[in-house]
Amino acid sequence: MSADPRSPLSWVRPEIQALTAYHVPDPGNMIKLDAMENPYRWPEPLIDEWLDVLRQVELNRYPDPSARSLTERLKQVMQVPAGMQLVLGNGSDELIQMLALAVAERGRVIMAPDPTFVMYRMIAEFAGLQYASLPLANDFSLDVETMLAAIEAQQPAIIFLAYPNNPTGTLFESDAVEAVIRAAPGLVVVDEAYAPFTDATFMSRLGEFSNLLVLRTVSKMGLAGLRLGLLAGPSEWLGEIDKVRLPYNINVLTQASALFALQHQDMLDKQTAQIRLDRAELYAALETLDGIEPYPSEANFILFKTPAGQADALFEALKADGVLIKNLNPAGGRLKDCLRVTVGTPDENGAFLAALRKALVS
Ligand SMILES: *Cc1c(COP(=O)(O)O)cnc(C)c1O
Repeated sequence: MSADPRSPLSWVRPEIQALTAYHVPDPGNMIKLDAMENPYRWPEPLIDEWLDVLRQVELNRYPDPSARSLTERLKQVMQVPAGMQLVLGNGSDELIQMLALAVAERGRVIMAPDPTFVMYRMIAEFAGLQYASLPLANDFSLDVETMLAAIEAQQPAIIFLAYPNNPTGTLFESDAVEAVIRAAPGLVVVDEAYAPFTDATFMSRLGEFSNLLVLRTVSKMGLAGLRLGLLAGPSEWLGEIDKVRLPYNINVLTQASALFALQHQDMLDKQTAQIRLDRAELYAALETLDGIEPYPSEANFILFKTPAGQADALFEALKADGVLIKNLNPAGGRLKDCLRVTVGTPDENGAFLAALRKALVS
């Protein structure tokens, strides 16, 4: 069977053909608790102020290629230690892609625990790298012994550790992360997408290890629509990563809007503090439900196990009731029977709990 020589089958790399495109469901009018977004809008006067800022933006000009003002502001807000460099990305996803491109050479390995953020695997595959996933322990903590043995055997170019982890919500022990950093022959990227929802961080420890980089995003703290992520670390590494960045990757609207939003950091901090309180309430409520086992979370979502074989039906029943969460059962493995809910407003959390209670009895 020979394909038409001009067909995509002749040219697109087999490993790309084997992928399925990342599917994001259309939420329609549903209560959206599937994507770890901050549920709060800005007050009207602040929106007016922001629109005044945007009025000054010159859309006919290319953006500042190094986004200087924004970079300086981010260094303050994210408490990046002095002497460390930043590279900005169109979402932290783009930074993961830059990291992969910078090391991509045949046979090289990217390593991460399992289950974790799916983009690590997808981007490794886009870049033609091998991906090694190492099972987490039963309580979703890092299995350090297994990890160290795999590092020794496979010599990964990059290890990604989501801290806290997605989709489990687990915060790995800092000693375990440190052991991985010390054992790694290459880079360790500690992905702190959920930093606003935990007190733990490796940001303050940059520079203590020559192979540690910290990845952050403004998405989960309330600015997902802007698509802005940042990678922090020693300039020896970041100078190299910056070479694969496309010149104007942070557009003028994002630069102006992010700068404006970060001048109102106190509002975002209040929102994320509220989400942390509501996470505790939601967790406590889930614990009282028969057959539901929530996992402790340091992020703005909660993973929970449903009675065996019921996850798909519960997910669909919630959807029929206008509540969209994330069904992780199809991912299989340790995520079998698991659903993940993002912490929304108190009203949204209430609607979710009511729909779940209803679905459990029927
Ligand atoms: C959501 C998420 C990201 C992606 O963030 P963007 O900046 O929106 O691309 C990165 N890492 C983890 C672990 C996430 O959960």
